[in-house]
Amino acid sequence: MFVAGNWKMNKGPAEAETLSETVVELLSEFDLEDDEVAVCVCPPAISLSSVSDVLGDSPIALGAQNMHAEESGAYTGEISGGMLLQAGCEYVILGHSERRQYQGETDAQVNAKVIRALDLGLVPIVCIGETLDEREADQVEAVIERQLTDSLAGITLEDAGDLVLAYEPVWAIGTGKTATPAQAQDVHAFIRGWLADRFDAELADDMEILYGGSVKPGNAGDLFSEDDIDGGLIGGASLNADAFAAIVRAACEV
Ligand code: PEP
Repeated sequence: MFVAGNWKMNKGPAEAETLSETVVELLSEFDLEDDEVAVCVCPPAISLSSVSDVLGDSPIALGAQNMHAEESGAYTGEISGGMLLQAGCEYVILGHSERRQYQGETDAQVNAKVIRALDLGLVPIVCIGETLDEREADQVEAVIERQLTDSLAGITLEDAGDLVLAYEPVWAIGTGKTATPAQAQDVHAFIRGWLADRFDAELADDMEILYGGSVKPGNAGDLFSEDDIDGGLIGGASLNADAFAAIVRAACEV
């Protein structure tokens, strides 16, 4: 199981320090290693260093919310994967639907970032998911297949072992609407089948596929109990240390 918190554009360095201190304290009660649960928090870029200092040698890993595909250069306002490594990141969220929607990020751009992240040794958490219109038009599988094909173009079997996927139906993100466990499970099973065809059965079995979209303490256990759901990418609820800890507890109990 893997639980990642996406703090989005919340928590500057000082606030992020306070939140991460509370998260570290609450999760110190859990035996994450014994329960085989990995946890990561993804603060905004400006807060990565302050959170990294707090996480120290706790079992909680650090992730970023985005990176540029190039190593360095004239890309004002951008941050490279190498810089994320220097700040202590192990993970990077790529292709989040909010970036696709507001920054016009395409699957081709996500693909270039995934390739660079893997090359650098950062674990990409690649987000995919359909909009409400696409779901209502019965296009869920077609959309997921297109996003997977294009975002993972050129990725070898060996590299794919270092990827995490997050199925995040756009209509469920930040809306309070959650996919039912059965709806999420259907798509996760489809993704695993696609991975088996594109790579192989062993990789498909091993790949962590997270669900994201209004996960809360009250629904996490049911979602995480589904066969093909290996944890969650948590937005809003990860900003509340008690709620985030309760979601991690649900992962530990599965
Ligand atoms: C997200 O930001 O990836 C997310 C799933 O947000 P929320 O949990 O708030 O829906």
